[in-house]
Amino acid sequence: MRYDDLKANLTLCTGARKGGGEPCRGTLYKCKQCGGIGCRQSRDDLCSDQGFSVTGRCLKCEATGQMEIIAPGDYSPQQAWLNGPQPASN
Ligand SMILES: [Zn+2]
Ligand SMILES: [Zn+2]
Repeated sequence: MRYDDLKANLTLCTGARKGGGEPCRGTLYKCKQCGGIGCRQSRDDLCSDQGFSVTGRCLKCEATGQMEIIAPGDYSPQQAWLNGPQPASN
């Protein structure tokens, strides 16, 4: 499976990177405590829509360890594995 295919299954951050202004396209996480949604960056204040620090701390409510990955619908990686290997691209 190509990395891009894997990323396409997840909701991506639509924020812009600070400095360059390039689209972030980072994986989005949701805070179970405050419901805030944002991406996770290696440093604080890297993306306009950043929601979590590298340690998993919510930038909105300061809760730590409350982030969960956002997946669209009922997509389940485990189920995909049970159904066998992904179709080959060649
Ligand atoms: Zn929060
Ligand atoms: Zn972002």
